[in-house]
Amino acid sequence: MTPLRASFHTLGCRLNQAETATISATFAARGYSIVAYGTDTDVCVINTCSVTEGADAKCRQAVRAVLKHSPHAYVVVTGCYAQVGVETLQRIPGLDLIVGTEHKMQVADLVGIPKKVGHARVVHSSKISRGDFTMAGVGHYEGQTRANLKIQDGCNFACAFCIIPFTRGGARSRTLDDIVREAHGLVDLGHRELVLTGVNIGTYASGGSDLLHVLQALERVDGLARLRISSIEPTTVSEAVLEWMATSTKLCPYLHVPIQSGDDHVLQRMKRHYTSAEFAAFIAGVVRRVPDICLGTDVMVGFPGEDDAAFTNTRTLLADLPLAYWHVFSYSERPHTLAQRYAERVPPARTQERSRILRELSTRKKTAFYRQFIGRTVRVLGEQREASGLYTGFSDHYVKVGIRTEAELANTLRQVRIDSVEQGLALGTLVDDSTVSPHL
Ligand code: SF4
Repeated sequence: MTPLRASFHTLGCRLNQAETATISATFAARGYSIVAYGTDTDVCVINTCSVTEGADAKCRQAVRAVLKHSPHAYVVVTGCYAQVGVETLQRIPGLDLIVGTEHKMQVADLVGIPKKVGHARVVHSSKISRGDFTMAGVGHYEGQTRANLKIQDGCNFACAFCIIPFTRGGARSRTLDDIVREAHGLVDLGHRELVLTGVNIGTYASGGSDLLHVLQALERVDGLARLRISSIEPTTVSEAVLEWMATSTKLCPYLHVPIQSGDDHVLQRMKRHYTSAEFAAFIAGVVRRVPDICLGTDVMVGFPGEDDAAFTNTRTLLADLPLAYWHVFSYSERPHTLAQRYAERVPPARTQERSRILRELSTRKKTAFYRQFIGRTVRVLGEQREASGLYTGFSDHYVKVGIRTEAELANTLRQVRIDSVEQGLALGTLVDDSTVSPHL
């Protein structure tokens, strides 16, 4: 009998990608053949995001897109939008199953024998468990060199703009044994680099272990070449983690630490846990301990009350800090949040203009960061050949490198000398493997 086909579509963050990979593996374990999203399928799982209004709209579009190419597909929506948008989702014709956060990892069981009945079944709980957790199996990342490894979920901070504490619940951590088990499984599947993910991973706490213990345990995983910490709140990065980063042979010199604003009044209204001076001091301390580190950040424009002077403070601070790049987000009003009650809205045109200014500045910062590697040799994990003929991959410092070579470099670590930087890419040449240390 031909196996049923399942496809998956992930919206939003890296954590959602990690969860989709696990959900996908649970379908494969039940005998499904996993097919690419956008092709004919029997079941499609859309793992949604609700961080902005735009993300909600993308979910609705995705449901319509699936039903267009696979009118008989059994369509499941799970993830953050399924937790907070059930009523809207129920009105989407053709949707078969809505699964909230609490039952997200049980989607394959809940689908059972997929049979369309003309209306959406809802599996939802407004209560989300708080205890330590484990995850089934090993994530399925078809054709990817890097794999995500979920170590934490939820958040106890209450940033005024953020819906995540409502969509994902309070902070909770995955047991250390289970993290290490999946890490071994991912390495056995051929992944050389793992990216630790969660909502607020710096608050990891399980059975007496903290984030440092997770890093130390993963350092001992044979066959794992690189480990990267994804987004982490600046106030949760301990001295011990920085010291570990400075000496580890696997943990990459890379941190993505959201700043959100460089203006103290806005930071206070956002309910962030630091001032602009404290953030700057933190960054200076990081660079002292881990020279050459790639530092990225997230910044939000158009937060209620962000006047021209506040925006200038943000732009100036970002320009001055030794950051390699940032992602710019426009404020989006979210239900349940404190900021929804704030007046002093920023006109959309001004928000767009601020976004444009910061994006341009980020591009210049990134080029400057990349340029400091010219003439140096870096370690690159090959990912894919581009249409240009260059083979691309990322260095330990998260520099995207284009290599001029005929060699097939997929999932191999090679030493590359950086010759120039052009159009957002560091161009380099392969050199002998034995000449440099793991981080350079
Ligand atoms: S730290 Fe703030 S922005 Fe990040 S998930 Fe928690 S509440 Fe949201």
